[in-house]
Amino acid sequence: MSKTGSIIALLFISWVAYAQVDDLSVSQQNSQHYKQKLYALELIRKSKSDEFSAALNALQSETVLMSEDERCYYNYLLLYRDSFKGEYAQSIEHLKALKTRCLAVEYQARIVQLLANLQVITGDFEPAIKNLNQAIQLTEQTADKYLLSMAYNVVALSYRLMNQDDISLKYADLLIKGDFTEDDKCMGVYNKYRILMRQGKGEAYKTQITEAIDLCESLNNTIASVFLKLDLIRYKFTDKPSVDSAEAQKAVQQLESMAESVDATNFKNIKVYYNAVLSYMYWLVDAPDKAQYYALLTLDGNSSIGESEQLILVLNVLINLSLENQAMQSAYNYLSQKNTIEKHMFERKMATQVAYFRAMHANLAQELEIEQLNQNNQVLQLKNKLVAETSQKQQLLMLLVLTGLLLLGFWTYKIKRRHDYFKAISEVDHLTKVFSRKSFEEQLLKIIKKCKLESSQVNLAIMDLDHFKNVNDAYGHMVGDWVLQNVIKACEEVTDQDTLIARLGGEEFVIVTPGISLQKTVKLLEKMRAAIENLDCSPTGHQFNVTASFGVTNSLLSGLNKALLLSHADVALFQAKNNGRNQVVAFKS
Ligand code: GH3
Ligand code: MG
Ligand code: MG
Repeated sequence: MSKTGSIIALLFISWVAYAQVDDLSVSQQNSQHYKQKLYALELIRKSKSDEFSAALNALQSETVLMSEDERCYYNYLLLYRDSFKGEYAQSIEHLKALKTRCLAVEYQARIVQLLANLQVITGDFEPAIKNLNQAIQLTEQTADKYLLSMAYNVVALSYRLMNQDDISLKYADLLIKGDFTEDDKCMGVYNKYRILMRQGKGEAYKTQITEAIDLCESLNNTIASVFLKLDLIRYKFTDKPSVDSAEAQKAVQQLESMAESVDATNFKNIKVYYNAVLSYMYWLVDAPDKAQYYALLTLDGNSSIGESEQLILVLNVLINLSLENQAMQSAYNYLSQKNTIEKHMFERKMATQVAYFRAMHANLAQELEIEQLNQNNQVLQLKNKLVAETSQKQQLLMLLVLTGLLLLGFWTYKIKRRHDYFKAISEVDHLTKVFSRKSFEEQLLKIIKKCKLESSQVNLAIMDLDHFKNVNDAYGHMVGDWVLQNVIKACEEVTDQDTLIARLGGEEFVIVTPGISLQKTVKLLEKMRAAIENLDCSPTGHQFNVTASFGVTNSLLSGLNKALLLSHADVALFQAKNNGRNQVVAFKS
């Protein structure tokens, strides 16, 4: 190659290189230009939504000039703007399509956040939770603070809407304590205190909530500050047994003064909520017309999901107003409307719960802190469940053993009672209530033993009613029984405690007198004989007399011997019968 050729070639290469560099810088400039523009728009998407929307429209014609990346950004913002107009299902489809095209982490992160947000609104909780997890994962990769705070915000908000308070609070705290902007902090406290107020802790955090309201107000985040103010009033006055009417009046004035700023937000949800709280407070301070007006306004304005609790609030007002006016039919209608909503709310709550656990289960493999937290939580819950189950089993076992013991005790008691009962009835003659023959023999042996020990004497007599068969034959068995009972009563009346009387069988009785002489015993038996002879039998309805014969012996004559005492007494009795009955005969050896 010649020198000139070389120079020309060099010049050409330099030109090409220059042209390329220039081209590159132009495209970079353009790219930076649109990207910065779009970013600036993104920042005002909430605070100046009208301006944001108009600027997006104006940029429509320039999309052909944008890079692929920028078009992703633009389309995402477009979808963001349009998604909150209400066509949720359509927006979700568009977002999913965009996600397959825009693979850069920053757009993926934005898209899944928005997707999750919309899926929470439409009640599609399981994919929502998966997307929330992905949003965190993706943004943590980018180390882009703006994206990260946006993700934390969406996560806190979404979990709050799904009633997963703990997780929402965790992300709200990340926003509050992290190195983020004041606006992010406002959103952090906003989410945090709305949850705490919902949990009934409004009073406890009153100063912090007031500070949160001041912070958001100073940043012109009217939506956040108004929601917090409305919550503060609502939770202060609802579900309370008694209400300070002066304070309620003050709250009404505060609400009335907020009307303009509420209107200025141009945010439908906040207007509906405002009307609901206002209606409730008017009802509280006895302004029924205004209460009804704002209640109906709330019902009219309510179309989107997530406002169920506000509806419950005003339906309660309408039910009470109807009842006060005795409008039973409308009270009934409002009540059934309320029941339906409450049922939906309950179902939604259950659905979030189920979705939450399912999504968490599906994401177990992910090494996200939040996942681990939840795993720990789940493990803890499982452990608790296990402990609860084990203790439940133990309790059951204890209960079983206790029941067994109780039954055993009960049966032992029952058996003992039966035993006692049978023992008692075998010891006592059922008719005359004196000792039975069996127990008499036991008692006699004891007495003999005692006499032997003390070297004392004992007397044994047998008493037999005279011609008793005739009584039965003449007046019947019932009369005979009566005679047996009353003869014994008459005998007992003349004896002391130490005398033992027992029924040997039929109309034959035995009388034992330990520790006294035969003479004394004969005297006692004489008394008995006389008592029997004088027994008034007229209560039987018949006029007759009974007599008895006695044969008696003493241990000094017969010895301390059961058989001999009995047989010698019997011999004496035989003599008494032979001698003409109605007499006492002592045994003579
Ligand atoms: P004696 O003077 O010789 O003893 O004449 P008795 O009729 O008393 O003698 P016996 O032994 O022949 O009759 C006894 C009667 O006692 C027979 C029976 O009808 C009656 N008797 C036995 N136990 C009972 C009883 O529990 N209730 C009634 N009502 N009668 C009884
Ligand atoms: Mg007899
Ligand atoms: Mg007899």
